[in-house]
Amino acid sequence: MIGWILLGALALLVLITVVRAARFKPTAREREAQPSEKVDAERAARHLCEAITYPTVSYPDPAQMDFDTFHRFHAFLEHSYPLTHQALQRELIAEASLLYTWRGTNKKLAPIALLSHQDVVPVSEGTEKAWTHPPFAGHNDGAFIWGRGAIDMKNHLICVMEAVETLLSEGFAPARTVHLCFGHNEEVVGSEGAGAAAIRETLRGRGIRLESVIDEGGAMLPVHLKGILEHRTLAGIGISEKGYADFEITLHRKGGHSSQPPKHSGLGEMAEVIRDLERHQFKAKMLPFLRNLLDVAGRCMSFLPRMVACNHMLLRPLLVAVLKNIPAAACLMRSTTAVTMASGSPAANVLPQNSSVTVNFRMMPGVTTADVEKHIRKVVRNKDIEVRVLKKKEASPFSPTDTTAFRTIARLASGMAEGVMLAPYLVMGGTDACFYEPICKNVYRFSPFLASVELLGCAHATNERIPVQGLGDAVAFFKRYIRAEAS
Ligand SMILES: [Zn+2]
Repeated sequence: MIGWILLGALALLVLITVVRAARFKPTAREREAQPSEKVDAERAARHLCEAITYPTVSYPDPAQMDFDTFHRFHAFLEHSYPLTHQALQRELIAEASLLYTWRGTNKKLAPIALLSHQDVVPVSEGTEKAWTHPPFAGHNDGAFIWGRGAIDMKNHLICVMEAVETLLSEGFAPARTVHLCFGHNEEVVGSEGAGAAAIRETLRGRGIRLESVIDEGGAMLPVHLKGILEHRTLAGIGISEKGYADFEITLHRKGGHSSQPPKHSGLGEMAEVIRDLERHQFKAKMLPFLRNLLDVAGRCMSFLPRMVACNHMLLRPLLVAVLKNIPAAACLMRSTTAVTMASGSPAANVLPQNSSVTVNFRMMPGVTTADVEKHIRKVVRNKDIEVRVLKKKEASPFSPTDTTAFRTIARLASGMAEGVMLAPYLVMGGTDACFYEPICKNVYRFSPFLASVELLGCAHATNERIPVQGLGDAVAFFKRYIRAEAS
């Protein structure tokens, strides 16, 4: 009897699941027809090529910075965008950062800011020859524009400038003040956003609070998982970015001659420390943004995976258990621990007196550097360790998604391709956007460029490039964004 009841219950459960999956349909918005937008895509391509020819490389050591190149880049912007330089006020901040102010007609409205960074990472020594086209030639082969900064992020900067120049040529006058904030050392880890922070302090000094900020960080990602999720585009809008902390963990031991070693040298003990850290990962959790991403993507999947996705609330413990073993998914669910460097004694026949490891943590919003230190002290059994923070940047709070700026970005992104799946997203890397958080609650990270995983992977690497085709759409995006947000 009990067997029959169980079987009946199971059959009912399967039936409910099948019906739910069948009704679990895309919420994908219709691709909204946009009024056509005047855009000079050819000029944008030409200007991006020229922008790449200025090697605006940033270095951690300010003495290594070639500010002259940055100043020549500024002169290039000035002669390429004459209307912008007539109508907007331009200020040079912290040697090479730029702050433009396009004054709005309504002083009561809080200004908006469009961010970009002028700097690029260096080309790794010895890899120059591996480039199909030289990294600072700014070559356009008709399909791609090649060079350092093509995708990170002179493309974005140039398209913002093109949008402003075109809007001015059409006689547009913003009601809300528009700031363009172009830092010069975003790529330098540990610069603490010197350029961006200086721009923020300039704004803060004037009593300005920004209504919204848009910067790089999210993009339009084509998705094609055969048999599961086909021919879709994921528009990820960054609403937060993970924190960053480098910790050095050190053990002091007696050292001495390696011919009479103890059972474990300091470095040997350190191996246990590493094991403790790797075995005790931070707890994985499905935050609302991830549940939403599963929901949005799940609805577009084929029937079987859709059955799983539509029950993700029920299956959450199972999903977490599976996903936390996939690094690309795990990093969206928990703060990560990566042991990256180790050192012992200076010679092969010397026992280490000071053994140390460096561990890089990327924290989820809500987990602070202090929490990480507590975690280390809790999970490492060896209580002799010395723990020191080398570098840190706290995680960003989540920006709200019920704001006009978010809705505008979402609407415009949905109009950029067919079958767009739109999802707020957690950005893994660091951007300049976080430095504006003290003066803005609505900080969004989105670059309106369609970029495959392969293309995104060439940022900071050899053969960085961007498809020429998308430039016009990106200019149109920024024109529409400014018109919507600053009118
Ligand atoms: Zn960047």
